[in-house]
Amino acid sequence: MTKPNTILTDTFGREHTYLRISLTERCNLRCTYCMPADGIALSPKSHIMTYEEIYTIAKEFVEHGVTKIRLTGGEPLVRKDVGRILEQLATLPVELAITTNGVIVHRFIDLFKKIGLQKINVSLDSLDNDKNTAITRRDYFAKVHDNIQLLVKEGFEVKVNCVLIKGFNDNEIVDFIELTKTQPLQIRFIEFMPFDGNKWNLDKLVSLEEVLKEVYAHYDAQSFIRLKDAPNDTAKNYQIKGYAGSFAVISSVTNPFCDSCNRIRLTANGQLKNCLFSTSETDLLTPLREGKSIVPVIQKAVGSKKKIRSGMETLEQFKDPDSHNNRSMIAIGG
Ligand code: SAM
Repeated sequence: MTKPNTILTDTFGREHTYLRISLTERCNLRCTYCMPADGIALSPKSHIMTYEEIYTIAKEFVEHGVTKIRLTGGEPLVRKDVGRILEQLATLPVELAITTNGVIVHRFIDLFKKIGLQKINVSLDSLDNDKNTAITRRDYFAKVHDNIQLLVKEGFEVKVNCVLIKGFNDNEIVDFIELTKTQPLQIRFIEFMPFDGNKWNLDKLVSLEEVLKEVYAHYDAQSFIRLKDAPNDTAKNYQIKGYAGSFAVISSVTNPFCDSCNRIRLTANGQLKNCLFSTSETDLLTPLREGKSIVPVIQKAVGSKKKIRSGMETLEQFKDPDSHNNRSMIAIGG
């Protein structure tokens, strides 16, 4: 029986019903916006949650009101025991979803179907082979492109995550939207966020406003629909009339959605992050390994969540480099 969701409710009354679990800090791509060129210092294997620990922590969250779990990373599918983790988590009364770079996702289609995992987010930042190779520092564009088509054909609910970077891929906004003409995809343009070593600055960010300007320049006002966002949705959703799919903008930096935030993150080394922008973390793995209850630790982490972007209330504050004193996205789990 689900207990009342009290330990997961913060001081602003936000209920945290959505847990994102990073399965690994490893990845088969090296995206420039996600990790530094020389990689990151990986946590020792003994510091990474085992599949039993992942299940135990996830179960505690579900018993306290979590209804959705998304697996992420690093690249979740490169973890050797990902199949076993998925099968175990699927026994919990929770909606399961995954975010992947799509490079090896074709190997998991039967498993996803077997456990009822329907929602798959695939990252793709350019429709141009060379640009994709430049941003991921690997040459897998064709594979990822084919795998997106395959997932759609196999009936999965597919969203494509595209991090926009000024002067790099912002000229592809319409090309991405045109993919939704015939395919039931959702394209999600994500504002570039600052993390350790990703050479972020505000000038590289393509804002929600700029995306919409590009859309207005290309499509006439009558054919452009603002869709109703789902509760707790981080994305602002749109559609071109008559198109099979839709598109959205995730404006974490210029137009955050903190009021309705229901997310909490667990890193692969068992640290809770109550906000993506938070520069601090709460260790869950040590008390778990010491046989202590993790409930008070979770409660404290949720209770200390700040109102907006972990205390960064204005865009000006992003200009302070200390505000990005946060692990690389690859180690947090996007
Ligand atoms: N490997 C998987 C993938 O590529 O989707 C999952 C992990 S990845 C860290 C999750 C998401 O975070 C991806 O969609 C990626 O585009 C996004 N991401 C990473 N760094 C980002 C940044 N600096 N700003 C915005 N989004 C970022």
